[in-house]
Amino acid sequence: MSLRREVGYLAAEKPLSRGVKGSKVVREIHQDLWTIANRRDAVARKVAEEDFSLRAILSRMAEGVLIADRDLRILLTNRRLHEMFLLPRSPHDRTVMETFRNHELHEVIRHTLESGEPQFAELSIEVKDGEQFQQRHFQISSASVGMPDRGSSRGALVIFHDVTRIRSLEAVRKEFVANVSHELRTPLSIITGYLETLIEGGTDEESSQRFLKTMHKHAHRLNLLIEDLLVLSQLESRTPGLHFEQVDLVQCVDRVVEQLDSRIRTLQATVAVDADKWVPRIEADSVRLEQVVFNLLDNGLKHGGKPGIAIRIRLRASQDCAIIRIQDNGPGIPLSDQPHIFERFYRVHKDRSRDAGGTGLGLSIVKHIVQAHGGTVTLESTPGAGATFVVTLPVQQGE
Ligand code: ADP
Repeated sequence: MSLRREVGYLAAEKPLSRGVKGSKVVREIHQDLWTIANRRDAVARKVAEEDFSLRAILSRMAEGVLIADRDLRILLTNRRLHEMFLLPRSPHDRTVMETFRNHELHEVIRHTLESGEPQFAELSIEVKDGEQFQQRHFQISSASVGMPDRGSSRGALVIFHDVTRIRSLEAVRKEFVANVSHELRTPLSIITGYLETLIEGGTDEESSQRFLKTMHKHAHRLNLLIEDLLVLSQLESRTPGLHFEQVDLVQCVDRVVEQLDSRIRTLQATVAVDADKWVPRIEADSVRLEQVVFNLLDNGLKHGGKPGIAIRIRLRASQDCAIIRIQDNGPGIPLSDQPHIFERFYRVHKDRSRDAGGTGLGLSIVKHIVQAHGGTVTLESTPGAGATFVVTLPVQQGE
């Protein structure tokens, strides 16, 4: 066999076939090279597997991951980071500043690279969503890491944890606590003021009676508020504590109208109930369902704005659902308030609602109860031409 041919076999890293003869030295060299080539292939496979599993881990992480070199140029990112920041194109080879346009983030990473110390920060970063900017909150931890193939050079590994939802829930909770405190404090300070006056003495009988009546009214309001808060907290808990049974809607509405009878008379209001011939029994919590009808009818009377208000309750049914429409001919609800009307403590006229004995929680409770039954509640209102609340409930609860 010619030397040229032997070298050809070596170059192709093919084993010498049995029939092929060669010099002993060439055969040995060939054997060694063959072994080395096999090892190299095994190592390459392993690296590919590891690279693959590393990529798999990175792509499945709930956190965003970024690796930047010492010039803050981005070398690696995972899919989650792209989703978090709605990155329109690959940020590779662009700088942290170019990609995120956030000075604080740039500084955290720069500090990590300079000090070699891990850094933690919570940053609020604007994320561009189409033409809009959203303010999002991230907890960021960054650590210095050695860079493969870059000698002693070090880079930064940065992990992003999106805490926007947690922060917005905290803000809602804080606002709720502030609202509750305010709502509790107002009647309490009125009661305390009148009590102090009475304790000081010197008030005539007529004024004392007036003070006592006002105190009684505000104590009653406090009571209603606490009751509504307890109902709301029960409905918002993991176990809303509903007891489902077969409920006759017509009877349920009649009971509520009866409960409000003396108010209806005092206000010279009319309440007409108009039900389909056939309204099926529905699977519901009867106490809570009465509360829905009560709150909506009570609102019609309370916010109707005039004596002699006319309220119409219509009950319609299909095979799958029952619809309760409660319509009044009061002032209605301004368009700008309509999107917020089911929020806790939202009122169109704060003082007027309080004077009328409202807690600002009635519609929020309605919404929670209806949703817990798998139904919906909507408002239809043309300002100046009354309000109609439409509750749709499934006849049967799902499994
Ligand atoms: P409130 O205890 O004040 O009645 P709700 O949550 O039941 O609280 O209602 C929120 C606000 O919606 C009320 O303060 C009132 O401004 C408005 N509202 C509700 N129902 C009606 C209605 N039928 N007509 C006009 N305004 C209404």
